Amino acid sequence: MTVLLVHYHEIALKARNRPFFIKQLVHNLRRATADLPVRRIRNLTGRLLLELSEERSAGAVVDRIRQVFGVANCSPALRSPLTLEGMEETADRVLAGRSFQTFRVTARRANKAFPLTSQQINEALGDFVRKRFPVRVDLKNPELTLFIQILPKEAFLHLEKTPGPGGLPVGVAGRVVVLISGGIDSPVAAYRMMRRGCLVSFVHFHGAPFLDRRTQEKTREIVKLLTRFQYASRLTLVPFGELQQEIVVNVPAQYRVLLYRRLMARIAEHMAGLEGAKAIITGESLGQVASQTLENLTVTEEAVQLPVLRPLIGMDKEEISDQARGIGTYEISIQPDQDCCTLFVPRHPATRATVEEIARAELPLDIDRLVKIGVERAEMETFTFPEAS
Ligand code: ATP
Ligand code: MG
Repeated sequence: MTVLLVHYHEIALKARNRPFFIKQLVHNLRRATADLPVRRIRNLTGRLLLELSEERSAGAVVDRIRQVFGVANCSPALRSPLTLEGMEETADRVLAGRSFQTFRVTARRANKAFPLTSQQINEALGDFVRKRFPVRVDLKNPELTLFIQILPKEAFLHLEKTPGPGGLPVGVAGRVVVLISGGIDSPVAAYRMMRRGCLVSFVHFHGAPFLDRRTQEKTREIVKLLTRFQYASRLTLVPFGELQQEIVVNVPAQYRVLLYRRLMARIAEHMAGLEGAKAIITGESLGQVASQTLENLTVTEEAVQLPVLRPLIGMDKEEISDQARGIGTYEISIQPDQDCCTLFVPRHPATRATVEEIARAELPLDIDRLVKIGVERAEMETFTFPEAS
């Protein structure tokens, strides 16, 4: 039977939360492979074991697992009895058909009761491999490493490890609301929060009825792609054009963008309340555009009680774009569109507004009513991954 060994990451460090984190990781691995032939997931000492009911699907399962946050690495492995002869016989099978000139053996004992030390196992299996194949040991730079994991009841042998994304299992850090725009930045912000264990609910504001549906369609595509990291997503689409129009007729032009942002934050906070989310996330990075000065960031978040977190705050556009390419959202984000924030925007927006100035500018508006309208008109969509599950 083919098995996959999954090693996890910094979970190992969080002593008290460990059982909770592992449970979430197992749950996520199940969901990530819901449409693949994974028969059972076992929690062994310090790693997880996935038993597959179909050997030929191992590659597809590895492809899924390498995207599950919390996974440090994963490798197809063969099970072996806890005897030297058993391990030799298994090593033979693991190495069958491999061509290599140099190798090393790296044994690890999670079972300290095993009579041989790791070093003794390395030497014994190393001798065996050298006798069987025309190869030599190279400890520093081997072409191939034979890993041996000694567990309490059995051993596992494997070769390469496929690296995972690291981070923490989605779900362990609670829920957040991400303001998602269809641009390059906010999808990366969402990804980074998921990677720190957050479940993300998405809120998108669109310029209907003044702008076409393109940003909505882009945002859907982005959320669909990001759902492969959290298995189920909710996207709330809020028609914002008419609310913006009210702002436009009631407040001085230079404050428009900031008031849009404050209203977005308030509506998002309302959604967060409904969903039990503990923070609002944006894709802002310091100084990237006029609305992202320290002063203006302060003014935006002053409108809400929940913390506004900005995981990209210290990154520059190049770094963010590179990460977006890695995630796969970049190509979607660069499709042309018109973000609703560009609606009715003056050439010279305020870059250093104060909270007092903004509070005064907001006086003519019935904020509660505007939030209520936004909430009432919002439409929610759901996404799942794998799609059939
Ligand atoms: P992005 O690439 O994420 O659009 P940006 O560099 O274009 O960011 P802004 O347009 O100033 O920057 O937006 C800053 C942040 O405000 C975005 O990252 C996003 O979190 C939020 N935001 C902007 N427009 C919208 C929108 N239409 N719907 C939801 N959130 C938005
Ligand atoms: Mg944008």
